[in-house]
Amino acid sequence: MSDCLFCKIANKEIPSHCVAEDDYSYAFLDINPSSLGHTVVIPKKHYFSISEMDEQDLGFLFAMVKRVGLLLGETFDSPNMNIGINQGSCAGQEVGHIHVHLIPRKANDEGGSIQSVVASYNGEDLSETVERIRASKNKNKNKE
Ligand code: 5GP
Ligand code: ZN
Repeated sequence: MSDCLFCKIANKEIPSHCVAEDDYSYAFLDINPSSLGHTVVIPKKHYFSISEMDEQDLGFLFAMVKRVGLLLGETFDSPNMNIGINQGSCAGQEVGHIHVHLIPRKANDEGGSIQSVVASYNGEDLSETVERIRASKNKNKNKE
């Protein structure tokens, strides 16, 4: 997509600190790192979210996430990191090209876990929740 920041980074129209690259994916340092080594991994092809992604591209993307995770683990002598996607504006997505954050962690860095991003659970019975989710699955099946 011509006006997408991360497409421009993948195409090298905008410079970035490349961590790793293959034909399908590109990994680069986040310009505003949450921790030392904070890396973003993107598919070279433009997608907004994983829901739209071709399963093969998704496989390539996560193979790169694994490679970069191992690389960061070696570099910083620790396998500890948060790996996550902000999907949609309510979840904090600012750049509309899917990207996976790898945020290296270390002891006593005072950060939280992925679960600490929100605490909005309203106490609904989990059986009710799972029923609603399953009902959606059936709705979608009927559409096919
Ligand atoms: P989001 O909130 O969309 O999940 O994260 C987007 C990330 O992209 C942010 O962490 C932000 O710092 C990073 N970012 C935004 N613009 C640039 C840029 O021009 N270059 C690099 N390397 N990272 C960027
Ligand atoms: Zn893009």
